[in-house]
Amino acid sequence: MRYVSTRGRAPALGFADAMLTGLARDGGLYVPEALPRMSKDEIAALAGLPYEEAAFRIMRPFVEGSFDDAEFRALIDRAYAQIGHAARAPLVQLAPDHFLLELFHGPTLAFKDFAMQLIGQLFQAALERSGQRITIVGATSGDTGSAAIEAFRGLPNVDVMILYPHGRVSEVQRRQMTTPTEANVHALAVDGTFDDCQAALKEMFADEAFRDEIGLTAVNSINWGRVLAQVVYFFTSAVALGAPHRPVSFTVPTGNFGDIYAGAIARDMGLPIERLVVATNRNDILHRTLTEGDYRKEGVAPTISPSMDIQVSSNFERALWDAYGRDGAAVAQLMEELKGQGGFAVSQGAIGALRDRFVSGRASEEETLEAIRRTHAETGEVICPHTAVGVHVAQPFLGPVPMVTLATAHPAKFPDAVEQAMGQRPPLPLRMADLYDRPERVTRVAGDLEALKSAIREKTAAA
Ligand SMILES: *Cc1c(COP(=O)(O)O)cnc(C)c1O
Repeated sequence: MRYVSTRGRAPALGFADAMLTGLARDGGLYVPEALPRMSKDEIAALAGLPYEEAAFRIMRPFVEGSFDDAEFRALIDRAYAQIGHAARAPLVQLAPDHFLLELFHGPTLAFKDFAMQLIGQLFQAALERSGQRITIVGATSGDTGSAAIEAFRGLPNVDVMILYPHGRVSEVQRRQMTTPTEANVHALAVDGTFDDCQAALKEMFADEAFRDEIGLTAVNSINWGRVLAQVVYFFTSAVALGAPHRPVSFTVPTGNFGDIYAGAIARDMGLPIERLVVATNRNDILHRTLTEGDYRKEGVAPTISPSMDIQVSSNFERALWDAYGRDGAAVAQLMEELKGQGGFAVSQGAIGALRDRFVSGRASEEETLEAIRRTHAETGEVICPHTAVGVHVAQPFLGPVPMVTLATAHPAKFPDAVEQAMGQRPPLPLRMADLYDRPERVTRVAGDLEALKSAIREKTAAA
């Protein structure tokens, strides 16, 4: 399978190269040249399979030419061995027509583990073959850093360095980054804010000599490999609820549009999905776009669902590419307008195409807290604030087909919001209960570019 850029001016690549490259050279995102379809019989045959076997059958055509079957199957097994639930992505029922898909049983208690754990294995296999060594550097305000660390810890061809703002992440988040014992994991506590970390990172990526010297690589949410891994649980959950014989709808707590775009791919492959509901918090650029036809930046307002606090939604470019009839030049022009003027009007034809695929809703802070409170009162389930945004937005779309709301994080990751809603702090899962006793290892670094660069150089040389 070959991948092309949404901006139409970068060379087409195979799966492994598209994954290792991340962002295309023309600034676009890689998308499959043609989507494989699954027949009704093939979808029906997924019923009752272990998650790993279903994942193999669904993703196999996408990696063709990069990984052979036996190798790919083994990598999937290794990736998902770290998920602490036999079903990997279990369903829980909230109401006769409403289900939660629990995606938080991985090592960092959030759905990003499903993509990151697989990416870690696929990167290692591809690098081993070419004899390359890379340094993954990321900046985090809390969550993605630990997902990257968990995915790459102990892998021989990768160093992973995570920059976080000193004193500005929660204790659970910090400990998840500072307690892994593997020598290839480095947590760097930077004197400054998250924006300072991001700005420094951006400059490092712009510095070609430094980039080549240490094999600087990112694994952000636009990586096609991450989107692909997320396609799987749309299939497994829909099949558990009666697909392909019965349609299913999904509500997805959305920030960068990676997770819900995976749902759109599943539908395009043949899964009967009736509705895909985009759920946003008050950072609602996607909801405004779908209702008003205008994609426009506003400032970011901090919320109790921080992993969805975004100004623009990077993976939305893939949906625009589809909606503009795969016209790379048109997408490139929209992105220029976004950069220059802070937004753009979506054409009549394209907004119609987007509305055919997605509906949307928004939850205020009060509505989010109320959804946590009400879900607990009605079902005994404790949900995280991101999931609560989804549960709130799903309400007007319930019935007659089953609705699945994605539970994107474990409530114990956001204990303050949960306590504010229902007066109780959710406990950490048992297998993580010793997090507070593990020794920490971290390097404190001044918040300037040269200090950061030399810290990173030192760590890669030592490995
Ligand atoms: C990243 C994240 C989201 C948003 O997912 P996108 O793919 O960026 O839309 C929602 N909830 C949680 C807990 C997250 O970590």
